[in-house]
Amino acid sequence: MSYINTYRTKNNTNSRSRKWNNSRPTRSRSKSRRIGQYIDPSRFIKIATASNEKPYEPKHTFSDFLISDKLKSNLAAKRYITPSHIQDQAIPIGLSGKDVIGIASTGTGKTAAFAIPIIQNLTTDSSSSAIIVAPTRELAQQIEEEFRELSRGCGLYSTLLIGGASMGRQLSELRRNPRIIIGTPGRIMDHLKRRALRLDKFNLVVLDEVDRMLDMGFVQDVSDILKQTSQQRQIFFFSATMDTRVRKLIENFSTNPTTISVKAGLASENVHQDVIKFQHNNEKLDKLHDILINKDVSKAIIFDETQRDVEHLAVELVSRGFSTEALHGGKSQGQRRRALSMFKSNQVNILVATDVAARGIDVADITHVINFSIPKVYDDYIHRIGRTGRAGRVGYALTFVENRSNSY
Ligand code: AMP
Repeated sequence: MSYINTYRTKNNTNSRSRKWNNSRPTRSRSKSRRIGQYIDPSRFIKIATASNEKPYEPKHTFSDFLISDKLKSNLAAKRYITPSHIQDQAIPIGLSGKDVIGIASTGTGKTAAFAIPIIQNLTTDSSSSAIIVAPTRELAQQIEEEFRELSRGCGLYSTLLIGGASMGRQLSELRRNPRIIIGTPGRIMDHLKRRALRLDKFNLVVLDEVDRMLDMGFVQDVSDILKQTSQQRQIFFFSATMDTRVRKLIENFSTNPTTISVKAGLASENVHQDVIKFQHNNEKLDKLHDILINKDVSKAIIFDETQRDVEHLAVELVSRGFSTEALHGGKSQGQRRRALSMFKSNQVNILVATDVAARGIDVADITHVINFSIPKVYDDYIHRIGRTGRAGRVGYALTFVENRSNSY
């Protein structure tokens, strides 16, 4: 039986919910949702599989790594407290200069696993340059953002070479000889063919999501790019799967790589994920109410889109008798601290929050993450659900999805 059905037993039609919904009759959630990336709802559904498995225990802390204090403080600013499995194992090898093969998918923290050794190398060796090749524009953009945040204050700048973006701007950025290039194979090849880019000094190379690049038919482009990089290079290969094609590509370009394979991501395997379907906005609140009265929901964080949405929802839940606090950027620092400490100390068991306000909050025993609105990008989803299912316990992530078809 689906997890959703266990919460469908009671059909609460409370008059206050009508009032709440009627108070915002013109607001269109589907409209606001279109601003972000489209996320296939099937990505919000996953049975927890590893509830009996012990979570990975990292052997290092970030301060154990031989990296600069600046890099450490940037990690702290991003609230990366402990290294993920792939980071724990790949960072020391990356720092040693050896080639790395990381079998890891999105959600494992793989980006920082290669970004950290690369940034460290670039800041200590001024003759080094790095090129990161990724299959899609979105992934390239995400990688660039991670690099920007992790290298803040290190005097490093990156250039993004992706299709669909201004060629003129990319050409003028390339004239300034950037030391970090992040791009998709097609656009990188365009620049190489125009001789706007030379790679012979690029000695740090990342191929991210190799299997996906090969699926997309980029095998020739990727090989051509690799051939043009420095002969004294270090390569990081990341792939969700290792098959013959991937192995062949690696064998052609690397002689003695170290392989690290991780199963579970940060979006922990022990988070049971499901969707709550609704047809009209005015039934959402009742469905949420039904979820929250379930005895299994002992501590829940509910995400909504804007500060105003969060405030409305928290007021409504309080009026329905749920002990609730709101956390969003419109509150003063003091109010936010107070809301958080009440949630931490179980004085309230429901926290309604925006993504930004909730980033990095560390509350150990959250049983449920409820996405009352769909996150704008999948990365935010990973962040949200990572709040539950900690320390080997099963957590639940429930995402409200408008029911337009029965295809998921
Ligand atoms: P990735 O697999 O690189 O796409 O990372 C997945 C998500 O995990 C991203 O939102 C990262 O910001 C986040 N992340 C990466 N490393 C850590 C860490 N050590 N601690 C907490 N979050 C992390």
